[in-house]
Amino acid sequence: MEKKYYITTSIAYVNSTPHIGYALECVQADAIARYHRDLLNKDVFFLTGTDEHGSKIERAATTVGKSTHTFVAENAARFAALHDAFNLSTDYFIRTSADPIHRANVLEIWNKLLANDDLYKKTYSGLYCVGHEAFVTEKDLDENGNCRDHKRPPEKLSEENWFFRLTKYQDQLVSLIEKDIIKIHPVGRKKEILNFLYDGLTDVSFSRPKTSLSWGIEVPGDASQVIYVWCDALVNYLYKKDFWPADLHVIGKDILRFHAVYWPAILLSAGLALPKELFVHGHITVNGEKMSKSIGNTVDPFELVQKFGTDPVRYFFLRENSPFEDGDYSEGKFLTRYEADLVSGIGNLFARVNRLKDLLSITTPVTESSTETIKILEEKESAYHAAFSRYELHEALGSVLELIRYADKRLSEDKPWETKDPSAVKDALFLLSHIARLLLPFLPETSKKIQSGETPHLFPRLSI
Ligand SMILES: [Zn+2]
Repeated sequence: MEKKYYITTSIAYVNSTPHIGYALECVQADAIARYHRDLLNKDVFFLTGTDEHGSKIERAATTVGKSTHTFVAENAARFAALHDAFNLSTDYFIRTSADPIHRANVLEIWNKLLANDDLYKKTYSGLYCVGHEAFVTEKDLDENGNCRDHKRPPEKLSEENWFFRLTKYQDQLVSLIEKDIIKIHPVGRKKEILNFLYDGLTDVSFSRPKTSLSWGIEVPGDASQVIYVWCDALVNYLYKKDFWPADLHVIGKDILRFHAVYWPAILLSAGLALPKELFVHGHITVNGEKMSKSIGNTVDPFELVQKFGTDPVRYFFLRENSPFEDGDYSEGKFLTRYEADLVSGIGNLFARVNRLKDLLSITTPVTESSTETIKILEEKESAYHAAFSRYELHEALGSVLELIRYADKRLSEDKPWETKDPSAVKDALFLLSHIARLLLPFLPETSKKIQSGETPHLFPRLSI
């Protein structure tokens, strides 16, 4: 039987349409999903979707004069369209406000937490930031009394909430993360979350009164309350029950705390298995600046793909930076990468080898190679797998580029067009078939084109 592999992205918040940061996360997760499916032959389930909970969404819908239902459905459709635009191999797209399986899972988890005496009701007074969808403290405010992240003042709120006994799981969480039973990549993020845990936890609000939040799942047995975002959104990961526990949650650094603390605590309380690893990616800026609607530098991921093609944009996302660092997109950086690695690198080798193959009338598929070429392939392929095991996706691509450079160099040195000796061309053909295989998780269309050998030009020169 094939080994199961369960991978998820975070679910996108549908108060607006997709930005390139979320497209980047989907492409990273897709490369990992394809690697496990196509190169390691595992039975993969790749889940993505939308978080449709909360007062922010309700307010955004009111602002544009739409019903919350219509508003979330329209925005969710934009996120679902990333599947085709970026050639994602997603197995299921979950919409938290529209999926009956999700709703049943949330209620089941709530009841398990309640049965375990981990939910209790109390009145809470505090400062509530709508941007955070959470209570904030004085520490989160700047000198003008505005939330540092959302640049607006929090609201004073006093209300009755159900609370989750997060504090009960503090020591267990520390031990699980210290021992890598939940393994956090990169190690810097593991240290960050351990420091947060060492500081001590407080119990967290798990419901809101219906008077402040009418959009959501009602608390079972308490019609005055709606289940709050943590216990709603995070539970989406349980969608594919026969694959649980997840092997990997792909998330951004801004939601690490919810995935490394709240989520495992919920699962411990519910008596369920824990996710094995967290992949915590950095953020992406545009022309060196944080994307924001007010600066007007947001980049529409759909326009990007329309202009440059799916595989080139995937390539830039996956090759330009370590996934764990913050990256930057600019058209200049994109074009430099495109020319150097795709046009002059893989595209040029492919065209060159095909010309030489015709020149020397090599017709049979090449399945063998010289000892030296096999040695190089083994060396680079093992570096490729090692990079994947650390999720350093840019390094895995780097190993493929080294194979391309090696094949090019061999051809230039051996000059088969003069000697008419086909051995270097045969070695290059042999390598190309393996390059296509190793490129599959990153550039699925290009990989297919190399294997079919039908189109001579993989990447056109762009005149911009
Ligand atoms: Zn805030």
